[in-house]
Amino acid sequence: MTQIAITRTAHPKQPPADETLQFGRVFTDHMFMMNYDAGKGWHTPRVVPYAPFTLDPAACVLHYGQAVFDGMKAFRGKDGQIRLFRVGDHAARLNRSAHLLCIPELDVEMVEESIRTLVEVDQAWVPSRPGTSLYIRPTIIATETFLGVHPSSSYLYYVIVGPVGAYYKEGMNPVSILASDHHVRAVQGGLGAAKTAGNYAASLFGAEEAEKAGYTQVLWLDGVHHRFLDEVGTMNIMLRIDDEIITPPLNGAILAGVTRDSVLTLLRDWGLRVSERPIAIEDVLAAAQTGRLEMWGTGTAAVISPVGELGYKGERYVINGGQTGALTQKLYDTIIGIQYGTAPDPHGWASLLGNRQHAAR
Ligand SMILES: *Cc1c(COP(=O)(O)O)cnc(C)c1O
Repeated sequence: MTQIAITRTAHPKQPPADETLQFGRVFTDHMFMMNYDAGKGWHTPRVVPYAPFTLDPAACVLHYGQAVFDGMKAFRGKDGQIRLFRVGDHAARLNRSAHLLCIPELDVEMVEESIRTLVEVDQAWVPSRPGTSLYIRPTIIATETFLGVHPSSSYLYYVIVGPVGAYYKEGMNPVSILASDHHVRAVQGGLGAAKTAGNYAASLFGAEEAEKAGYTQVLWLDGVHHRFLDEVGTMNIMLRIDDEIITPPLNGAILAGVTRDSVLTLLRDWGLRVSERPIAIEDVLAAAQTGRLEMWGTGTAAVISPVGELGYKGERYVINGGQTGALTQKLYDTIIGIQYGTAPDPHGWASLLGNRQHAAR
């Protein structure tokens, strides 16, 4: 692996107090960068002071959206140790997203090494207050100066990191979601399985409409029938009807969430009945009305987000009495425990910073 050059800032900033942290507003003193040029491959991996960079106004990414990213977290435990959660799996997913956007493959070990190196350099920024973490955002953008729709011949891979506050400041609170019967996020055959910029642009209009109607998130239904559940906001969706736990299958329209995988793995460890199968909105509504439903979203930001209310075609349906279900709470507590090093980690998901043993996993 090519050596990562490290240039430290001459003007280190003071990290903000843990209790003031929000999400995505504050970044650390350094960032990682690496370039790709046709004929040369990926080259010049480096950690440099965090700073704006210049792009030609004709850069491909600004016009045609050839961009992918990922999102993961590092946690400081009560023991003071810093743990990265499933970093190898996030690195592999970044590569899968890149592949779907015709971006040249990265060495997954190099991606993991770029993240570990940057977090090491800025480790003083990893907050320690319960619930806080360091959010990690690897990104790849197309940089060729050219107007025309074709894959770029040059790219920038960079990583920025920043401390973020607790998602739940006063315990978990169930959200209300609106199932959209006309806006769609992604369709099979499209880019739903990639964490690519355009998918989030495509979600804005529907999300704003849901917000105006008094809901926090959109429940995305499939783009063909507007009937089967896809995802919720930027999370995967799961539900329990009686003793069956159901989540939509990875059919190409859905992002393969790492949290989704963690939850499915735990549920199977616990011997519960788990189905990855299509689930129609009318079956969800029927289960809600008969009080047999528990529903939650999964994603890195919230880990688990309970759903307390579902809107569809002008009607509001209360789920599980508007309360966080017992299984939802258990999943949250278990994953948080693994992330902060207070619960057993049988699958080796949390790896200590500086511990390269997991690098090739
Ligand atoms: C990031 C994301 C998720 C959740 O993925 P995690 O790996 O669990 O964070 C789910 N759906 C969409 C659309 C996403 O962008």
